[in-house]
Amino acid sequence: MATMDKKASNHLQDLQYFGEYGGVNPSISDSSTYTFLSAKTMFDTFEGNTEGCYLYSRHSSPSNLYLGEALAALEGTETANVTASGMGAISAVILELCGAGDHIVGSRTIYGGTYALMKNFLKKFNIQTSFVDITKLDHVEAAITSSTKMIYCESISNPLLEVADIHALAKIARKHAIPLVVDNTFAALSIRPVALGADIVIHSLTKFINGTSDCVAGVVCGTKEFCLALKDVNTGAGMLLGSTLDSLRAASILKNMRTLHIRMKKHSENALFLAQKFERDGLRVVYPGLPSHPGHLIMEDQMHPEYGFGGLMTLDVGTLENANALMELMQDRKLGYLAVSLGFYKTLFSAPGTSTSSEIPEAEQKEMGLSNGLIRFSIGLDDDIQRTYDLMKKCMEDLQILINA
Ligand code: PLP
Repeated sequence: MATMDKKASNHLQDLQYFGEYGGVNPSISDSSTYTFLSAKTMFDTFEGNTEGCYLYSRHSSPSNLYLGEALAALEGTETANVTASGMGAISAVILELCGAGDHIVGSRTIYGGTYALMKNFLKKFNIQTSFVDITKLDHVEAAITSSTKMIYCESISNPLLEVADIHALAKIARKHAIPLVVDNTFAALSIRPVALGADIVIHSLTKFINGTSDCVAGVVCGTKEFCLALKDVNTGAGMLLGSTLDSLRAASILKNMRTLHIRMKKHSENALFLAQKFERDGLRVVYPGLPSHPGHLIMEDQMHPEYGFGGLMTLDVGTLENANALMELMQDRKLGYLAVSLGFYKTLFSAPGTSTSSEIPEAEQKEMGLSNGLIRFSIGLDDDIQRTYDLMKKCMEDLQILINA
């Protein structure tokens, strides 16, 4: 059994930031620049030598620091830098760790945007990625070369919901003296990658952590040394690529984070309920909480049981036509929205082969088992999940698309 700090959520409840007049929420720093009483302090702050002083909000702002502290507590890291999007966090980490001629070993099932960044965009900088089946540890190790600068994976992958064995991957990374970078967007609170040996944790805050689908944001959680390097005014990829989160958004995300533990439990409870029902119905359902999932035992070993197996589930209904018809009918019957993204109170569904993973060429989608009939569900916070199940089942019956496993 992996060791896990079970007090993750309690730390979050303990974090207190008071507003300027004793408000229960911290004041929002509504400024892009900050004044100094002395020119010397300004110089020292620019050089990064003065804690507690702010210079310019692309570098840091009080609101962004509060949110960063809460996210560092969530992930059990020394500190964290918030960014304007998940992709802002991912691109900054990669360009901080890799230069021309370097190499990445990446999971072949990852968010389509990350895949496109690694496969297409990074070519411009002569940074190559070997995409591997992250569940095959021998493939991961065999892909490492003397130029490899990181192993990159998602704790639960988008969209196939493969579970990464973070403990084993961290061992490989350590053996080769390279960092293990984990995008933990799908498993907020359930999995703490750093407790399992990962070095850097990324989230798209856009999803579960914010939970209201009203903004995009991201975070890099890591050591003080790494996060300060990202912010270095002369060389830091975070500072110089400029993916800065606005303070107003940082403040609203921090407020939403206060209910993350309740939301994650409910997302997981509802997703498990539906997955078990659909599996009993003989449908092609994939969910890490089902013993039939190849990564179920690894997930059980590395997760915090209270927060469950996550809110994501996939259902393969055979063809894209079936998937589109079902999603449109479910939306008509108010069961959720035909929309990308995840972590909303309402169920969101999309066919990743033609949306969020469309960057992955069709042949590669086939090879990794991503079929056109696959629907990715981000299960919502429905109060009566039995009713939701009955209505979803009725949609499939009305369309005559009960595809058996
Ligand atoms: N990581 C994962 C697992 C995602 O699903 C996404 C977006 O869908 C991202 C990163 C990118 O995040 P953002 O859209 O906030 O840039």
